[in-house]
Amino acid sequence: MVSGSSHSSSQSWFGKSVAPGESVNSELLITESYSSRDVGISLRVIRGLGDGPTVFVSGALHGDEINGTGAIRSLIADDDLKLTAGTVVLIPVLNVLGFERHSRYLPDRRDLNRCFPGNASGSMATRMAKVIFDAIVRRCDYGVDLHTAAVRRTNYPNVRADFRNPDCMRLAEAFGAGVILDGKGPKGSLRREATLADCPTIVVEGGEVWKVEPSIVDCMKRGVLNVLKHLEMMEGEPELPIGQVKIKQTKWIRAERGGFMDLHVSPGSTVTAGQPIATNSTLVHQDQNQLIAPFDGIVIGMSTLPAVQPGEPVVHLGRLAGAKSARRVEKHSQADDVQRTAQEHLSTNIQIVDPN
Ligand SMILES: [Zn+2]
Repeated sequence: MVSGSSHSSSQSWFGKSVAPGESVNSELLITESYSSRDVGISLRVIRGLGDGPTVFVSGALHGDEINGTGAIRSLIADDDLKLTAGTVVLIPVLNVLGFERHSRYLPDRRDLNRCFPGNASGSMATRMAKVIFDAIVRRCDYGVDLHTAAVRRTNYPNVRADFRNPDCMRLAEAFGAGVILDGKGPKGSLRREATLADCPTIVVEGGEVWKVEPSIVDCMKRGVLNVLKHLEMMEGEPELPIGQVKIKQTKWIRAERGGFMDLHVSPGSTVTAGQPIATNSTLVHQDQNQLIAPFDGIVIGMSTLPAVQPGEPVVHLGRLAGAKSARRVEKHSQADDVQRTAQEHLSTNIQIVDPN
């Protein structure tokens, strides 16, 4: 449904009327608390004067992943987001019950991001998903869903999109994160189900849980503004990096032994096949084994906790076409202020040592 077509008239967002050119705070009631109180999602609806699409931008669908919350709050506070057409629905915290307890999950231990499009007579999580999906997603033409790595991991900023869907690809390229990963997303995830319901949606990953990291916020803000410019909802051209790499295959490099990792790479590093990624040793520094890059790639995510047991994930590698491609990706990301700063900031939080 294209709700932007009724641009000349006022829109109603959960009881609040929003006229063209207006910016209004509203609240979507999604459930009731144990203490019988209404539980609502806070949001800001911004309309341009002209006709255009309706786009949602969501944070904290996993309640502990608040880099997106920081980015959205900053978009609300700054005046960079000058909408000329269409409607933007900014949702700083989608999973408000998870957020209240600093948790990825809902109080019933379900993952809200596996419960879409929801079910009005199902579990607590699927009922909430149903309200969100019907009230917001079905009114939108496009979506951008902001995430971080899971607990004890960090992600180099990247966009995830279904490469077979041209609209998702358009959004992903317009966002301009530098690294785009292929995938529809898991069944029941917001982006997969929204895209199926004719609201092409991309996921953005960056940084860690429980933090608002300035370099990740900058990347997310630039990307959201880029998407809005691309959709002609704002004036100006998207600020894009000189190159973006599309990755179809990723692999978690896992620990083979229990021990303590000396890491040789940081988020955003490119590696060539055969290059040491991490050296595992005992607590008194007797070498156990070394993890080796199985292909030419880029570090899109990694553990921030160097203590490992066999099978635990250490480094998430995105596969590149070859050593030449790795050098080109490195050059492009270094030439882009936003990506270079993210790489610098993320690596200062991890001790990186040269391999022996
Ligand atoms: Zn997430």
